[in-house]
Amino acid sequence: MADRVYEDIKYLLSLEGSVLLKIDPYRVDEEDGAIVVTCADGRYFSDIFMHHDRIQQSCRENPLIHPLSRHGGALLLAPNSPLVREGSTAQEDLFAEIVEAMDWIKIRKIVLSAHYRCGKASSCRVDAAQTIQLLFAAKKSVKTRLASHDPVVSCYFHIDFGPDYKELGKKRQVLSYYADREGWERQQIQA
Ligand SMILES: [Zn+2]
Repeated sequence: MADRVYEDIKYLLSLEGSVLLKIDPYRVDEEDGAIVVTCADGRYFSDIFMHHDRIQQSCRENPLIHPLSRHGGALLLAPNSPLVREGSTAQEDLFAEIVEAMDWIKIRKIVLSAHYRCGKASSCRVDAAQTIQLLFAAKKSVKTRLASHDPVVSCYFHIDFGPDYKELGKKRQVLSYYADREGWERQQIQA
């Protein structure tokens, strides 16, 4: 495992239980569907989509999952995100699409999703710690900028532990977590 990846994984493991929480399989909070802002990375998209499908199977007759997928996903929504190229309108376009979806389909629930070993993030030299930081900055920005639409925002984080995942004590190579902003803020204060 490369040193950089090792440091990133070590950092992410340190967040388990405080910031990165196990997902409650009985969590029922997508009764009215969800707008899912996710990276377009095809290696993980199916897993992310099916996760929300399972949540909604327990609270809706038919799933209503509205994916807005772009390289980098929710990380594009953070103010001054390094994933947004200078002169690009990617951030504004994504915000506009979220508002359109909220208006058209009457969904208040917005899921902001990010993942580790994101090609877009690493091509912009964003490490795991910055990825988490950008995800929560995106949440704050969505709540502030879309306040008039009264959004309900949740963050999810997906980690690819790599082929040596068993050595890290993991049962699967890719795991999904609920990312808790309050837990992260508490940790920042303590640090
Ligand atoms: Zn990605």
